[in-house]
Amino acid sequence: MQTIPELDVIIVGARVAGSAAAIMLAQSGWRVLLLDKAAFPSDTISTHIVLSGGAQVLSRMGAMERLERAGGFRFSSMRTLGPGFDFHADLQAAGPDRRGLCLGREKMDAVMLELAGSFERVTIQQEFRMTDLVIEHDAVLGVRGEGRTGAREFHAPLVIGADGMRSSVAKIAEQRLRAFRRSEVPCARAYYYAYFEGVARDRLGDQLVTEFEASPGAGNLLCRCENDRVVAAAAFDANQMHSFRSEPGANLQRHLNESIAVGAMLAGARRASRVRSSGLLRNTYRDPVANGALLLGDCGLHVDPLFGQGHSMALISAEIACALLPACFSARGGKSLSAEAMAPFTARRDEVLMRHFRASERASRDLTLSATTLAAYRAASREQWAADEMIQFAQMSSEARFPSFRFARLMAQEARAA
Ligand SMILES: Cc1cc2nc3c(=O)[nH]c(=O)nc-3n(C[C@H](O)[C@H](O)[C@H](O)COP(=O)(O)OP(=O)(O)OC[C@H]3O[C@@H](n4cnc5c(N)ncnc54)[C@H](O)[C@@H]3O)c2cc1C
Repeated sequence: MQTIPELDVIIVGARVAGSAAAIMLAQSGWRVLLLDKAAFPSDTISTHIVLSGGAQVLSRMGAMERLERAGGFRFSSMRTLGPGFDFHADLQAAGPDRRGLCLGREKMDAVMLELAGSFERVTIQQEFRMTDLVIEHDAVLGVRGEGRTGAREFHAPLVIGADGMRSSVAKIAEQRLRAFRRSEVPCARAYYYAYFEGVARDRLGDQLVTEFEASPGAGNLLCRCENDRVVAAAAFDANQMHSFRSEPGANLQRHLNESIAVGAMLAGARRASRVRSSGLLRNTYRDPVANGALLLGDCGLHVDPLFGQGHSMALISAEIACALLPACFSARGGKSLSAEAMAPFTARRDEVLMRHFRASERASRDLTLSATTLAAYRAASREQWAADEMIQFAQMSSEARFPSFRFARLMAQEARAA
């Protein structure tokens, strides 16, 4: 049986949030146990856009070169279109590198796990299913679960839940500690996606293309990814999930054909994979700290994929936690880190991410975009500086401040003109 050294942190879930946290904690000298019930490489239901904000975190932690070597496509501009608006912005303009990344999750997660495993301080256990938390006196002290070698129990001053939107860490702590207060809003849309081959470069270059509202609830995304493939995703009314699932290939194709511009970009291309769909989703906000435990990624903030923010939220929240945790460890009094000591994480995460989360949550409630959102898109269509400002925000760039006074004034003019 593998001997595990004394641990500082146990992380449950080894994809975007979990692996990123393990890498950054190891870089700061902490000893980490990274657990996942999956055996990697392992795919998951998700398209692959990493916006500028997330891509910048990947670069800072030293993962980007490996992801590019694995075939990750760096999109360097973004085009957004819909009824009455069509604008694009360059992500390579002067200043920091704001290109995004598009790489299938099977590859991306495997590369991140491999990088985490390259640190001596990180022990990885794949095919280990966490089944319970070790809880004593209102604090989490570790995890229990089943792995290849049978049942095991591990202890550490901090357990990080990075186990996704159906997080067991969050559920168990909610039931037993009344921790991780949660609020939820169902997503009006559901999603499906597939890969296409043979998409002509003059139709789709190095852009991330997103399109909204060819019909109520419709939305489409296109981007190149590894092996010269293109990932194409479509949003649809979640109430139609049953009928869409009965014939996913034909329905996705019909959806793309009925789009404003995306279908034409795929003309002549061949679908090169099966169609995968999301199931019904919820926007979930959780208070992310409890005594001895902290939530990262989807289990702390799960957002409608409409604007492709999930990976960036996971990466940005992991970076914030890893920057703040050394101070929390220094303040530790007992066997575990207290929720109070980790409160600065909640404050900083929410300060950075809530404006993005709320924007998605608002758009997620209804099948049509609000008059305010449409006014913002039309404003961005009018002037290039406005498109640049809007796309910096949409890309979750750390330097984005939105809307500026100038943009708000243009939006108000558009709203009055509508
Ligand atoms: C259809 C769809 C399209 C999307 N497209 C995009 C996009 O283009 N861009 C974007 O930014 N976001 C997108 N997202 C969102 C994105 O996929 C998530 O935000 C992201 O995967 C969150 O990463 P995570 O590490 O928090 O969780 P996950 O990726 O869900 O990983 C959780 C891990 O925890 C493990 N785990 C769970 N329970 C246990 C347990 N009990 N014991 C051990 N391990 C466990 C799982 O095996 C899994 O590996 C999309 C989502 C969907 C549904």
